[in-house]
Amino acid sequence: MERSGSADCRAVLTRAQRARRLANRLNLSTPLGLAVARVGGARRRPGPYGLVLAEGYRFRFPVAGAFTVGDVVITAHTFEALSRWSPDLLAHEERHSRQYAVALGLPYLPLYTLAMGWSVLRTGDRSSANVFERHAGLLAGGYVERPVRPLAVSLRAAGGFLRARRNPLA
Ligand SMILES: [Zn+2]
Repeated sequence: MERSGSADCRAVLTRAQRARRLANRLNLSTPLGLAVARVGGARRRPGPYGLVLAEGYRFRFPVAGAFTVGDVVITAHTFEALSRWSPDLLAHEERHSRQYAVALGLPYLPLYTLAMGWSVLRTGDRSSANVFERHAGLLAGGYVERPVRPLAVSLRAAGGFLRARRNPLA
């Protein structure tokens, strides 16, 4: 049941997966994901866990191998190529779609951005201390876990970043 190919797309969804799908439709995160996929020119097809897979997204932002909006998982690549890179990627993305449901949809986006900023501050990368990526599984998401930096190092890095922003020529 944990396979991530197209073979199990039509498998009967669990009650939790059906509830997640309904929640993400009503909270508008899945409609937003479908719109993002459409604007990005991605081809859509049904995937496992009740997800919608969208491939061939044409924009460079965001930079992740795949990103999830509601129940829609979007990539500039193909999921076949991504599953060779990280076989559990779709299970990881399905946990993000559950996070959307728990966050009542669109509030997930600023919450995720805050968690990402915290992670950059503490570890120097966007995922290692990001509570949402940790819950979804760093390894399954294809991430390498970086250690937490001493607070003084984090604050120095943040100070340098802010100074550079204020004076871009420095
Ligand atoms: Zn992730």
